[in-house]
Amino acid sequence: MKTKLIVANWKLNPDSPREARELFTSVKRVATKLRKVETVICAPVIFLPLLKPQQKLFLGAQDTFWAREGAWTGQISPGMVRKSSVQYVILGHSEKRATGDSDAIINQKLKLALAEGLRVILCVGEKERDTHGEYLNIIREQLNAALLKIPKKFSAQIVIAYEPIWAIGEQARSSDTPHDFLQQAIFIRKVLSHWCGHAPALTIPVLYGGSVDGKNAAGFLQEGQADGLLVGRSSLRSDIFNQILKTANALA
Ligand code: PEP
Repeated sequence: MKTKLIVANWKLNPDSPREARELFTSVKRVATKLRKVETVICAPVIFLPLLKPQQKLFLGAQDTFWAREGAWTGQISPGMVRKSSVQYVILGHSEKRATGDSDAIINQKLKLALAEGLRVILCVGEKERDTHGEYLNIIREQLNAALLKIPKKFSAQIVIAYEPIWAIGEQARSSDTPHDFLQQAIFIRKVLSHWCGHAPALTIPVLYGGSVDGKNAAGFLQEGQADGLLVGRSSLRSDIFNQILKTANALA
């Protein structure tokens, strides 16, 4: 049995602490009963202390900064979230890249988050899927830049989320296909093996993200052999998200 990892990215939602607690409680009812799924809720940091992690249900931040402490108004350090019962952080999300996170910044954030003991969900993915394979170079460069000079002993704390940008969010044309995801996951593992070696690379979970819903989740998990999913919009609907969790448990 290989446990599936299902990650909710709530982004800038919901609107209030009350709604955050309600959404978390609805997910908790299902997530804590599933033996073959680990669920991570990446909520806005202000809500995280209101949500109590449980057996099989973890908390994640949506970003952490690259400095431990100091005069950095508005920033949150990985040490701060780690000491607040948070075990995961998403880094390199395309929406953070779009607002200024360069490859070098992501690398610095990764270094500190790993050193502080967080598990890092590193997002990679191309803007466009071209027909001559340039997008594979983009994925390789994102991985290599993010992992630059990071000791391979940290491979056990890394999760990769493959998220093609064209498949994310309201404006997405469609999700990727399970078949294409599987090809991308093989490629990602090959790139990772140059960093940490073949055997550890095989154990790094590779998730799919981009317009996952109750209908297409099974395809990515089964035909696409995804180790899990990163779910945006559908994680704000507990009925759909819980359905995804049950599907993952049935297919693990
Ligand atoms: C995301 O932004 O990480 C994401 C997967 O969003 P959505 O599921 O809404 O496409």
